[in-house]
Amino acid sequence: MAAPATAGARSVGPLYWAGLWAIDLVSVGWFAIRALFRLRACSDIRILVYHDIADLTPKEDPLRVSVPVALFEQQMRFLSEEGYRFLSVEEAARLLSSADIPDRAVVVTFDDGYESVLRAAVPILNRYAVLVTLFVAVGRLGEARFPWSPAGSRFSRPLRWDELAELAGSCAMEIGSHTVTHRPLHTLSPAEQATEVEASRRVLEERLGRPVQVFAYPFGGWNTFPAHLRDLLRRHGYTAACTNVMGANVAGANTMALRRVRIGWNDSLWRFRLKLAGAYDWSDRARRVLASLRSGNHEKVESLENT
Ligand SMILES: [Zn+2]
Repeated sequence: MAAPATAGARSVGPLYWAGLWAIDLVSVGWFAIRALFRLRACSDIRILVYHDIADLTPKEDPLRVSVPVALFEQQMRFLSEEGYRFLSVEEAARLLSSADIPDRAVVVTFDDGYESVLRAAVPILNRYAVLVTLFVAVGRLGEARFPWSPAGSRFSRPLRWDELAELAGSCAMEIGSHTVTHRPLHTLSPAEQATEVEASRRVLEERLGRPVQVFAYPFGGWNTFPAHLRDLLRRHGYTAACTNVMGANVAGANTMALRRVRIGWNDSLWRFRLKLAGAYDWSDRARRVLASLRSGNHEKVESLENT
């Protein structure tokens, strides 16, 4: 499930579209300025995050966590034809720590464990030889629907265990933990946090017979992955963890708070390419600052680089 910043938009009316186009306008302008003055940052690794691969209408998915099958195929074909190198999260974290970052490196991740990954995404992933990382909320496997999917909606259901095993063997895939219950980890008691982190990994390793070393914070927005949680993950043997904060990762990035690029149903290929180029990286920080100004809480924006 995506960050609260995304979850904040509950309806898709004129205001939504006006906001989206305003963000597009600023992003394109920012991208043009950077290109003009050659402000492109040093090599980086972008980690894309997908959820459900399903043909839902905007009205059916105001949280924008689904991507239509045809659009997903366009995006994977683009990455393949443009010569992007696909990395696992574990490999990306290792390269970021060693500062040995290849050109055009990208990581494709899926959160939660939707059945559509097996049914709709795998044929496309295999067609373009895409390596992916799947973050699974193990306690949700086999349930009729995810708690955030409205009853009767066309969102895909969670995978079953047998489907997850089939999926793990059907394409190049790294499996990571997304906790057991998918509750916001930072709000739980220390004992609950330890259980979510430890049990999810252990069950995945036992059931799938493969090591699990990477993690994605549920929701994953600003302030959902404080330092004590990053330490907890390290103590339990995780080597990397992904947030849902928008942006790229450069050499020396905090590997327990990796940034990602959220992809949703409104990311047609031109917007997808701009996101890959970093044109939208400013948007999360701006949202965060605006939210803190609105709430009157002038809290300093947390630096992901703080370990
Ligand atoms: Zn999630």
